[in-house]
Amino acid sequence: RLKNLLNSYRPKSAIQIAEEKPAPFSLDEIRQGISEAQFEPFFQPKVDFKSGAVIGAEALARWRHPDHGIIAPQAFIPLLEERGNIDDLTFLMLERSAMACKELHESGYPISISINLSRVSLHDATLADKIAKVVLKTGLDPKYIILEITETAAMTDVAHALENLARLCMKGFALSIDDYGTGYSSLQQLTRIAFSELKIDQFFVKDLVHHESLRIVVQSSIDMARRLGVKSVAEGVETQADWEMLASLGCDTAQGYYIARPMDFESFRQFIPRAGV
Ligand code: C2E
Ligand code: CA
Ligand code: CA
Ligand code: CA
Repeated sequence: RLKNLLNSYRPKSAIQIAEEKPAPFSLDEIRQGISEAQFEPFFQPKVDFKSGAVIGAEALARWRHPDHGIIAPQAFIPLLEERGNIDDLTFLMLERSAMACKELHESGYPISISINLSRVSLHDATLADKIAKVVLKTGLDPKYIILEITETAAMTDVAHALENLARLCMKGFALSIDDYGTGYSSLQQLTRIAFSELKIDQFFVKDLVHHESLRIVVQSSIDMARRLGVKSVAEGVETQADWEMLASLGCDTAQGYYIARPMDFESFRQFIPRAGV
């Protein structure tokens, strides 16, 4: 079914992603772009291995630049994180994504949306309240917002990070460990936060089919997730062989170019029912 789906549907937005590297942008240009709302979430589907249905999407920031087309996050996120303006983008992403999610629910698709939280933001003691305020304003139940945290992000300023994450959890948000396996892994910390999802980094998924050692690492991650009672998500699923291998290892959820590239909201809305049961 997935193969049919892929043959029948290629979102136009998939090829809008800028191929050439744009000139580096200054912080002022980026700020200007944010204030003019030129940034938006693109949505990359997360698909259930067993049913093939879309159960959610990761919201990935894109800059719809008036002169340079669609710009990927690498051209603006590091600068924003470095200079401390990343929250402006985070809240723009959060609000647009929560509104999009709410709209999908009203169309009969009760899916969740994942948002990337920067490690920088976790230092702010008021973060949880701010996030809750933005989401509650849209009327969406926070359990449909999954906050993705990189292992390293959660570990740099452990005390503040843990406090923020615990508060977000109490407010009903779902938490996900992003890029699992690439950080300064502190398995001890993993056990202190109520995560509901473990995202296995694409580094391990890439070449999985060809390397026994990668397979062992991925298998253990999937097994560990199951024993912890959390969902395992594989990112960077690019081929049918990747899909089949991960399915046989018992992985819960797939995300990657094999299913779809990140796409704008309208394309995503059209994609959901085609992928569904
Ligand atoms: P990430 O959170 O690990 O997101 C996954 C990245 O892998 C995305 O890149 C996605 O387009 C890409 N990807 C998805 N499937 C495949 C695949 O099958 N093969 C390959 N090679 N790549 C795949 P993208 O959109 O360029 O984002 C890069 C990073 O920028 C993200 O990595 C995330 O760390 C950061 N980012 C994106 N949006 C936001 C945001 O709104 N806020 C923050 N703080 N960070 C963001
Ligand atoms: Ca992510
Ligand atoms: Ca990731
Ligand atoms: Ca990453």
